[in-house]
Amino acid sequence: MSNKFLSQNDPKIAKILKKEQQRQQEVLEMIPSENFVSKAVLEALGSVATNKYAEGYPGKRYYGGCEYIDQIEQTAISRAKKLFNAEHVNVQPLSGAPMNLAVYSAFCQPGDTILGMDLSHGGHLTHGHPVTLSAKIYRFVRYTCDPKTGKLDYKAIEALAKAEKPKIVLAGFSAYSRNLNYKKFNAIAKKVGAISMMDMAHIAGLVAGKALENPVPIMDVVTTTTHKTLRGPRGGMIMCKQKYARQIDKAVFPGLQGGPHQNQIAALAVALHEAQKASFKKYAAQVLKNARVLCQELQAGGLKIVFGGTDNHLILADVTPLGLSGKEAEQALDEVGITVNKNIIPNDIRKPLDPSGIRLGTPALTTRGMKEPAMKKIGQMIIALLKNPHKISQKTAARKLVKELTQKFPLFYGV
Ligand SMILES: *Cc1c(COP(=O)(O)O)cnc(C)c1O
Repeated sequence: MSNKFLSQNDPKIAKILKKEQQRQQEVLEMIPSENFVSKAVLEALGSVATNKYAEGYPGKRYYGGCEYIDQIEQTAISRAKKLFNAEHVNVQPLSGAPMNLAVYSAFCQPGDTILGMDLSHGGHLTHGHPVTLSAKIYRFVRYTCDPKTGKLDYKAIEALAKAEKPKIVLAGFSAYSRNLNYKKFNAIAKKVGAISMMDMAHIAGLVAGKALENPVPIMDVVTTTTHKTLRGPRGGMIMCKQKYARQIDKAVFPGLQGGPHQNQIAALAVALHEAQKASFKKYAAQVLKNARVLCQELQAGGLKIVFGGTDNHLILADVTPLGLSGKEAEQALDEVGITVNKNIIPNDIRKPLDPSGIRLGTPALTTRGMKEPAMKKIGQMIIALLKNPHKISQKTAARKLVKELTQKFPLFYGV
């Protein structure tokens, strides 16, 4: 990454950024929501598109001089439509949280009910955690899964929907590792006159790469962040059936946001172009293969795999059988250069700030080119370390493997 002007004009920030780049190069990034974008995405993100105000939508702006910005946004929309087989796409959400809030506000009045996945069973903060604005405006009701198998009881969800009469039936997750039955979710929503919504933030890249089923043709509304498995800039995107297009667009702008971040939309267009390629299909398939191998190693080593395994890129593991908490496991791994996050597990008896689980995933390491043999080594090393988190020789061995792998599989922009 060249930063000639930055180094001259603001050496302080240039230096810190260099260190951050080096940190990314030198650790094994296993947080399942993170990834590494291409140089092309970075260039679009750092482009002159950031200078332009473009409130409104292509062809209907409140500002002059939008002819090229319109072309960029229209290209992003067309690519997303084609890639996900979507009838309508809004690429303006500034990030995932405002994206979901926009959808809720498009279909619900304050006090209305939304039915979503329980947060300790893998649902996301923006699906109605009590600390969020959404939870203060809307009434969230929750369904759960069987923590041992990850299975959802669709009959029970239907009964809940009939009793609670939600305006939105919401599927989607950030710590759930199994596949969902979108047809069943959609059928339940239709039975109670609700909108069916899927938040595929975590798995959008796997859907784009045809490794997982595409919910877009099935559900009324599908939201996604663009910076996780999709490997684009930080942002959000809403796809919906044509009949909801106006409602969604109005809810995003002027309902919730002002001027869109056009540099981010340009970078998204680039990421969507990359996601159409055969190489991205290979990437998505490899993310899944890697997750399965890693999951097997962790399970064989004594971790309890929540939901009984993984169908996607992430693993939620109960570390307490090895005699430590999620926070202790996160710290032990952090110390040797492996980044994961502590995570609450279903029916957790521990507190959210020191829960029983860790959540880890394979998207970022797969982008660096790592395959099954590396996953096997990493899984075995994680187990060895967590069994003996304070043993010096164990830490040294772990650091050595981290160094070996990060050098063998560099970030593509290098350090
Ligand atoms: C990450 C995530 C979000 C929020 O995205 P931000 O860009 O961090 O606001 C929303 N929903 C799900 C399911 C997510 O995983």
